[in-house]
Amino acid sequence: MSNQSKSLMVVLSSPSGAGKTTLSKKIQQSDNSFKISVSHTTRKPRANEVDGVDYYFVSEKKFKSLLDENAFYEHSKIFENYYGTSKSSVNEILKNNCNVLFDIDWKGAQQLRKFKELNLVTIFILPPSKEELKKRLIARSQDGEESIQRRLLAYSEDIQHSKEYEHVLVNDDIESCFKEIKKIILNNQKSEQ
Ligand code: 5GP
Repeated sequence: MSNQSKSLMVVLSSPSGAGKTTLSKKIQQSDNSFKISVSHTTRKPRANEVDGVDYYFVSEKKFKSLLDENAFYEHSKIFENYYGTSKSSVNEILKNNCNVLFDIDWKGAQQLRKFKELNLVTIFILPPSKEELKKRLIARSQDGEESIQRRLLAYSEDIQHSKEYEHVLVNDDIESCFKEIKKIILNNQKSEQ
């Protein structure tokens, strides 16, 4: 991955439903030098999701052909669906000297760490508890019962991998968690100057 600029690459991972998508949107809104890397996925869009904004929604056939073309920096199969960060969407952000925000799982983070030249900052967001996570997954009512159960099952494995991250934050209050992330970003930007 070419990183000619001093772009910061912030990886946010968490068990599904811990608030990471809301947090990444807040970061982008508060600082327009941050752009979210829009992933490709074979998952079906949720009611409020827009193609090209939330994800590039593609068929499994298309995803596999992109894989064959080596079009991804990293990819992962999660809950029967494929997700991947395309080289073109990241390079487009880097070309504009912007910072990149990745909303990806721990398997994707492991793959990005292999690119030693990157200014990676890795943050793992934990929900206050498994019970709270379950409440949030039910409250957002985007996923069926089966999908909620699968996401809860993945929870234990996900949190095992939190120790691979430089920062682990508990999201019991979205505003204070956001402030913590801003602090981490600021510290990393300072150390780059
Ligand atoms: P969701 O289906 O809820 O949007 O996302 C499920 C999981 O996929 C989340 O943990 C999210 O961070 C992860 N994810 C989304 N895009 C990517 C990607 O491009 N690569 C990887 N490795 N994980 C992703």
